[in-house]
Amino acid sequence: MLPFEKCPVCGGELKEKVVEKILHGGKHTAILQVTAEVCLHCGERLYDEDVVKLFKKIRNKLKRQDLIGFDPSGQAFTVDKEWLNKQMQPAANRVG
Ligand SMILES: [Zn+2]
Repeated sequence: MLPFEKCPVCGGELKEKVVEKILHGGKHTAILQVTAEVCLHCGERLYDEDVVKLFKKIRNKLKRQDLIGFDPSGQAFTVDKEWLNKQMQPAANRVG
């Protein structure tokens, strides 16, 4: 199925696992469960060529806002920069 028997990154052992993949297209996000070969050493994921094609198809669907076959799954948010900066301030500036 895959051209690799060992991880191409670190040479570690690969194991077939069901993983959660997050795809972005335009402003939208889609989540799906797919089977991948996962490196037990570094966590690198290898996908079958057909699966990679499927990812591309899903990204294009998201870009086109073609949501047939997709179910709503909560909302996606962009973390506000102002809020983020507040969280990143040095501990000395924080109350308590
Ligand atoms: Zn690896």
